Amino acid sequence: MSDIIQLLPDHVANQIAAGEVVQRPASVVKELLENAIDAQATYIKLIIKEAGKTLIQVIDDGLGMSDTDARLSFERHATSKIKTAEDLFELDTKGFRGEALASIAAIAHVDLKTRQEKDEVGTTIQIEGSEVVTQEVCVTPKGTSISVKNLFYNIPARRNFLKSNTVELRHIIDEFHRVVMAHPFIRFDMYHNENEVFNLPIVNHRQRIVNVFGGKTNEKLVPIKEETDLVTISGYVGKPQYAKRTRGEQFFFVNDRYIKSPYLNHAVNAAFEGLLKEKTHPSYFIYLTVDPKSIDINIHPTKTEIKFEDEHALYAMLRSSIKHSLGQFNVAPVLDFNRDASMDTPYDYKGKVAQTPTIEVDRSFNPFKDEKISGGSSSENKTYTSFKKETPASWENLYVGLESETTTPKQEENSFSSVEFESAEVTGSLFEDNEKQIGHHTTYQLKKKYIVTTIKSGMVIINQHRAHERILYEELLRNITMASAVSQQLLFPLVLSFTTREIELLNTVKEQLENAGFVFGEAADESVEISAIPSATSEQEVPMLIEKLLEDLNSEVPESGYSQTDVLAKSIAKSIAVKTGVVLPAEQLQYMANSLFACTEPTITPDNKPTFITLTVDEIDKKF
Ligand code: ADP
Ligand code: MG
Repeated sequence: MSDIIQLLPDHVANQIAAGEVVQRPASVVKELLENAIDAQATYIKLIIKEAGKTLIQVIDDGLGMSDTDARLSFERHATSKIKTAEDLFELDTKGFRGEALASIAAIAHVDLKTRQEKDEVGTTIQIEGSEVVTQEVCVTPKGTSISVKNLFYNIPARRNFLKSNTVELRHIIDEFHRVVMAHPFIRFDMYHNENEVFNLPIVNHRQRIVNVFGGKTNEKLVPIKEETDLVTISGYVGKPQYAKRTRGEQFFFVNDRYIKSPYLNHAVNAAFEGLLKEKTHPSYFIYLTVDPKSIDINIHPTKTEIKFEDEHALYAMLRSSIKHSLGQFNVAPVLDFNRDASMDTPYDYKGKVAQTPTIEVDRSFNPFKDEKISGGSSSENKTYTSFKKETPASWENLYVGLESETTTPKQEENSFSSVEFESAEVTGSLFEDNEKQIGHHTTYQLKKKYIVTTIKSGMVIINQHRAHERILYEELLRNITMASAVSQQLLFPLVLSFTTREIELLNTVKEQLENAGFVFGEAADESVEISAIPSATSEQEVPMLIEKLLEDLNSEVPESGYSQTDVLAKSIAKSIAVKTGVVLPAEQLQYMANSLFACTEPTITPDNKPTFITLTVDEIDKKF
């Protein structure tokens, strides 16, 4: 029989290797981020489109590559990180196999731009399915930008195998978490479909964890610290009472590399023995530093599993150091001086608790009370309860607030909370020297949609729905953070049906909902009882409101940017804001305008749409 064995062509070998290295868009994200870190970047930007299916781009300000290296970097087994087999035992880089770029280039359209600091111009290379399409000189900032487009375009089976965007994005965010938490000294930004998902400044480990998982995380962490000849252990475990039903936040890092280790996970659980409720899992963020010689990372292509030389000793040390910390914590609660309250909600309401106004307000005052709203068919006969009196009652108050800043600082303490005060500053120019006119302003409703009012420089046209959304959003944020909402008791509790999955989701935000003014009664397997609702909502809109909320919570990227509180406030505000088509009586128009300009960010809705426009007299003059 003749010889039948032949060497596979490179591009086929690369595609096969890609199968191991690149399972999904998240794998590409991991490899590119790691390359940027290895290139000593201090600022790394991740840009994703369509959950990575159309674009994954990583831009770094690292060392960059020469033109020859740029070309070579796509060859298989091409690496600058090791030279000899011995180097494998001295690794201080993430990569070393020289496979990632070759694999990625075999199954996508890749666009590379790179420049070293010493060079005046850089290199750009386009590769499609391992074929170099172009290589040219180009003008580009120092560092490297790699765009990976149309992943698996030439392997339809793999492309079809990808999950929904929500699932793939979740995988990407998981990888992103793992990388950014190991490297708090590098700044990271992440964008998805042009929206900023993360913006992580350079901080310490604890703050990075808090920035990633939200302000509430801080108080849940117990630090651990242990130093022996074998290993240095540092990081945090979650307090037992915050253990979760899902194993979400469990992270081991070894020499700044995220790893999976069922064995060490067992050690952590052993340390928590007797402290956890059944079926709950502790959070942990544990950083181990060991001699690179004592580990073998080379056992898996994605390098998330490693072998320790002395696993048993490590197990024992980890368990005892966590036990020790938990014990200490039980005796003396941990004081934390690094706390940054502004991380809790967008506008730092938490920090403002101390400044809660002492001014007397008539809490029963409600300009919307018992007003039958006419117009808009769906809201016919609906009673609208709305803003509370804490917002200034007229333009004059706004003006007084402004004035007190410069002339009578004492008054400021006595005036409304600084939330309003700050905003008065923002829109200050609008009302400047407007004192005389203020008393005579006129406010109209236009087409059951806009609120029109005059200011010194001309006129303001406010979108009633959007403005109300902004007002309610800030009020909800404040209420949820400071647990200061006012509830209205329902005569008969509402019983709403949900799936178990929905109830689970509701449970994750129960505390915030209670802070917002909901009171829950009995929860059965598939229904929830609500006995009180926020004073600004009406009973009829609650089912729809909760349904929308569940939808929003579901589609929102988990733990992105601000907390769930933000998602919650946005969603509820949108649901209960007065709709277009609703006729508003004069005092409500006035109230709406006043409350809007008392907001911290009056110009836009929570999802960045303009709430009002101004038309200056100049602009009007030009039209004549
Ligand atoms: P590895 O990281 O295992 O060395 P890769 O295929 O990921 O293999 O990258 C190949 C080589 O390309 C790296 O060794 C490095 O020299 C170079 N390289 C890749 N990405 C970058 C980057 N962002 N900045 C500078 N050099 C890079
Ligand atoms: Mg690499």
